[in-house]
Amino acid sequence: MKGLADLDWLSRFLHETPGDPVEGGPTRQVLNACWSRVNPTPIPVPRIIAWSDQMAQTLGLDQRDPSLLAGNQICDGMEPYSQCYGGHQFGTWAGQLGDGRAITLGEVKADKSVLELQLKGAGRTPYSRHADGKAVLRSSVREFLCSEAMFHLGVPTTRALSLCTTGENIVRDMFYDGRPAEEPGAVVCRVAPSFLRFGSFQIHAMRGDESTLRSLVEHTLKTHFPHLKSQGDQLLIDWLSEVGQTTAHMVIEWLRVGFVHGVMNSDNMSIHGLTIDYGPYGWIEGYDHNWTPNTTDLQNRRYRFGQQPMVAGWNLSRLFEAISPLLKNTQRLQKCLESYDEILLGYYHQMWCDKLGLNQYNKEMVEELIGLFHSSETDMTIFFRLLATVEKPNIGDLKICFYDFNSALKEEWTQWLSKYLALVKPNRAQAMNRVNPKYVLRNWMAQLAIDKAEQEDFTLIEELYQLLKKPYDEQPEMESKWFVKRPEWARNRPGCSMLSCSS
Ligand code: AMP
Ligand code: MG
Repeated sequence: MKGLADLDWLSRFLHETPGDPVEGGPTRQVLNACWSRVNPTPIPVPRIIAWSDQMAQTLGLDQRDPSLLAGNQICDGMEPYSQCYGGHQFGTWAGQLGDGRAITLGEVKADKSVLELQLKGAGRTPYSRHADGKAVLRSSVREFLCSEAMFHLGVPTTRALSLCTTGENIVRDMFYDGRPAEEPGAVVCRVAPSFLRFGSFQIHAMRGDESTLRSLVEHTLKTHFPHLKSQGDQLLIDWLSEVGQTTAHMVIEWLRVGFVHGVMNSDNMSIHGLTIDYGPYGWIEGYDHNWTPNTTDLQNRRYRFGQQPMVAGWNLSRLFEAISPLLKNTQRLQKCLESYDEILLGYYHQMWCDKLGLNQYNKEMVEELIGLFHSSETDMTIFFRLLATVEKPNIGDLKICFYDFNSALKEEWTQWLSKYLALVKPNRAQAMNRVNPKYVLRNWMAQLAIDKAEQEDFTLIEELYQLLKKPYDEQPEMESKWFVKRPEWARNRPGCSMLSCSS
């Protein structure tokens, strides 16, 4: 049996970048440093309630150790710390943020890579500001299930190994309406090549601390981008181009599966182009470019579904600005940004070809389809699965995917289908079903699992975890339960249609 204590632990980040000389301690501004050493806060009753066997296998783990995974103990080799970073929140520079409730245990050698293990919700750190450093069960269930679901969908993401309850309640004002209530606490152990964000670089640039910025960039290039062999400005440009490319890929993948991140602040943008920090995210049910799950963003809808590629580009510009003091010739950054737009468009066109089973992108057809989606409330996931096997321009074959079918549009749908069927590739169904998932973590599905988990019944978490391991498979035994439109009770229920950042 192999447990966490038997893994090969490393601390490259701590040894290669400048750190805070003070260990633990109160909330403060941490200057000239990329991290602060801090231990997780012990909790009353650590209990593992969900486990990713797939992630465990990658790490070579077959022993589940609740006290290490909830932060009650650390083992030899672990050197816990929290990271210092800043970020633009909703378009405004917010200064130092940092890991207010995340504590990295260390890195471990796994298979062919090195992965960082981090506890989210493990207690206060120097970056906790006015908050408690903890996480509630509902948001932790959402993070655990969604990161694993995204992985199995093939969308770049950070991962989750385990979800523990803590045996203590914490207080949250879920809708910021002056009605705080106690909720069960939890800790997720999450896993990624690193948790470096755009904001990790921004904080040093914004403070004019070029020396710390340079150390962090050198560490990042050496550790995470060793395949880049150029030097000087060229190396930085190659690196930023790659970040642009992986970021473009990630956001187009979100569009492919109908995912809305909800808080694309620059501190929530991974340097690896991975989906990171699962907060008030949501899944498109009725296809709608304007939809956002985040109640804090309802007014401006900055982070709405259809705007994600543009916002990622905006964040990328902030990263480029942060790196610019290290470049001799900053003009090249402009080209780099332009190439983000080009790459994005290429991925976007390919995504539509794949989703529709076409050989060639057809702008008019895609735009008409999006228009029809917006006129007849249409379930995105069900639509694309059914479309794969439609043979005649008969809108009746797609009936179950409409929430609100406007019969005045019958003619337009029929016309669209006729045009579409004239252009599709022969035998398209199999390939389409490999890019259009049958099962995603619909908002209300996660909420049902949370409702049960709050009653100490964790069976639905396991059921959804297993279901979402094979999102493209038919799984006929699961169809009547989960291949269905959003039920009416979920249309306006908090947690299903609206989520706050409180977690
Ligand atoms: P997020 O919206 O989750 O990306 O968090 C934004 C910032 O708030 C990050 O610096 C988090 O570490 C911090 N934060 C969020 N929740 C808490 C909490 N309960 N305790 C301490 N810091 C938190
Ligand atoms: Mg965050």
